[in-house]
Amino acid sequence: MITKSDVVSYAKSLGAGLVGFAPVERWREKGDLHPNFFPDSVWPETKTVIVMCVPSLTPVHDTKITRLHRSLYNITNQRLDEMAYMLSVYLNRNGVPAIYAPRDGYATDGKILKENPTAAFSHVWAGYYAGLGTVGWNHTLLTRKYGPRHRLVSALSAQSFEGDPLIEDNLCTKCRVCEKACPFESFSSPQDGVVSNRVSADMNKSRCAHKYEHFEGMPYQHCGFCIKTCPVGEDLRLFGSPSTREYFEAHHDFEKWTMGVGGNIDVAGKADGLNEERVLVRGVNKAGLSAKEDTAVSFDAIEKYAQSLGVDIVGFANASDWGSEVNVPSELYPAAIWPMARSVIVLAVRAQNGERDAEARILDEAAYRLAAWLCEQQCPSIHLPSDTGDEDYIAGASMPLFSHECAAKLAGLDSGGIRAVSVLTTLDLEYRKN
Ligand code: SF4
Ligand code: SF4
Repeated sequence: MITKSDVVSYAKSLGAGLVGFAPVERWREKGDLHPNFFPDSVWPETKTVIVMCVPSLTPVHDTKITRLHRSLYNITNQRLDEMAYMLSVYLNRNGVPAIYAPRDGYATDGKILKENPTAAFSHVWAGYYAGLGTVGWNHTLLTRKYGPRHRLVSALSAQSFEGDPLIEDNLCTKCRVCEKACPFESFSSPQDGVVSNRVSADMNKSRCAHKYEHFEGMPYQHCGFCIKTCPVGEDLRLFGSPSTREYFEAHHDFEKWTMGVGGNIDVAGKADGLNEERVLVRGVNKAGLSAKEDTAVSFDAIEKYAQSLGVDIVGFANASDWGSEVNVPSELYPAAIWPMARSVIVLAVRAQNGERDAEARILDEAAYRLAAWLCEQQCPSIHLPSDTGDEDYIAGASMPLFSHECAAKLAGLDSGGIRAVSVLTTLDLEYRKN
């Protein structure tokens, strides 16, 4: 008979950073939600909900570069749905009836979403009942490891598994930075100002759902300020993020945020300040961030892990080589995207005719998972997407976000006949030609 530890091991092998088990009775005992949203209203056979969480790599979540942010969103969504499906199949194969609740239970039609922005199932509350975190003022699940910077999915099992203990201390400090940072005033505090007896702010979901209308024609097309500004989470320490006060002081743009999404981004004024504006927001120029020596990961371990994800070839280049060994604009240096990058790990597959989309999918997922795996081992890292066109950011200009081809050459790979993506890492890897 399949055990809880078998399920956890399998979920982790799929890429889950956190896994928790919630007995269905908890929904009834706690009474936080309408019964329509109980797991056994979705599927009456449900006995336990298994919740899986993958990290949003903090600097990518925090970036002003829409293409990079969108790649994180798409890759994690794709991963979550696959994880939930594969875990359900794994359970079925082992004699346990199970189905999954997709990571996004909202209407896919934009009009319906705006009229009724309600999901069919709440992974946030499932995560709380599964002991992964507590529900924050901003309506997200706050976890110790990632704060609210993660994404969730659930599998519904007809077999009972022992529930994980709930986190008793509320991780939300009720600082309400999330409320103040929302450009559309989606959150509001109770009229009497007493927040201590409330779990979450009042939320006008329509305001949040309508935010995309404000992005039209703007270079910056994503939001999430309520998440990126939350001070909860060990990920902030891993990435050397400044305190919330320093964060706002350093960027002087909080007032502009409240006047409209991305108010601090001015494409017309880019010519001189391109580098400055392209860099990631949080942790910029934070000196001394690097992987801890005692947790540094070897070349071989990186290569082995990447190959387990379907990558054919792995190469390494030193980030400083961009200044000395190649003649490309400084906007394409790794440091123009993430100043803390010390090495670049290049992942490549042998290109096949007509398989471009499949190759991109393998590479994007491998780059995200490798970066998340390195972060798990205290080596701060981020992934760059296979599609680096970046036209959303530099409207009208042809400068891409990054050149994987150039990275492959610097890593000593023969760039003919391969397709590549890159992972930026603070690991100080020696330059190695394959
Ligand atoms: S920003 Fe503050 S109030 Fe908002 S969820 Fe995070 S800890 Fe809670
Ligand atoms: S995603 Fe943006 S608009 Fe929506 S609640 Fe968060 S800060 Fe507000």
